[in-house]
Amino acid sequence: MSIIEYELNESVAIISLNRPERANAQNLPLLKELDAAYERAVADDAVKVIILRANGKHFSAGHDMAQKPEDGVGDLLGDVKENGLLRMYKWETKYYLGFARKWRDIPKPTIASVQGACIAAGLMLCWPCDLIVAAEDARFSDPVARMGIGGVEYHGHTWEFGARKAKEMLFTGGAIDAREAHRLGMVNRVVPRDELDSATLALAREIATMHPHALLMAKQAVNQTLDAMGQYSALQSVFSLHALGHANAQIVTGHPVMVGLSEMAKSIRETPTLKTEE
Ligand code: ZN
Repeated sequence: MSIIEYELNESVAIISLNRPERANAQNLPLLKELDAAYERAVADDAVKVIILRANGKHFSAGHDMAQKPEDGVGDLLGDVKENGLLRMYKWETKYYLGFARKWRDIPKPTIASVQGACIAAGLMLCWPCDLIVAAEDARFSDPVARMGIGGVEYHGHTWEFGARKAKEMLFTGGAIDAREAHRLGMVNRVVPRDELDSATLALAREIATMHPHALLMAKQAVNQTLDAMGQYSALQSVFSLHALGHANAQIVTGHPVMVGLSEMAKSIRETPTLKTEE
């Protein structure tokens, strides 16, 4: 059983996260195989649109905090006294910020199909996609501030729903549900859970009828506008703040995050849902 599934449905590549027993938490093999699946879809001229979806109840619980050396992580920190957090900084630059940026610029339309929990690094999988279709039970949160760090490695928050809501989400660690995410412009469509796959595929097929060259120019027009507004450099500078958060936690606690795994899981369970309207 592969950790990433790949299917070609006519002109649509469907990539599925396949770690449902771990709520599709992201370990290094999952990220590498996801990147390889994207590469495969990009290289195949038959593929016009790419869907990223997830098997199981939840889209993604974020980084797998229980990664083991056999996951290819090795000693993530190395000799901290000798090199500080240099090894971790390089690793997060490559596999978190680097992959997310690369995936934002995939030269074909991408659609994320999201159900259940999409926590912290889960956002780094759906935000770089061009469109997001969400099931009614989807909820989006970044509780990383509870670990003493100002947010996940890819700062999409402010771009996705503006400064005010971004701050509320980060300050409280609260979740935004699918309807609220749609109202804020972060999600394109909200559909019943049992219609998520069919609705996403229908949207992909509709887009696939367009000329690929026009789609690429349209995608680049929006992404280049975002970059002219400073998105590319902002992502880099906020990632540096994230790294500073790890360094600060290391100084205070001797670990690059402030709280342990069980405490973190408990705080996520108690995460409030942010709403501005009923
Ligand atoms: Zn980090």
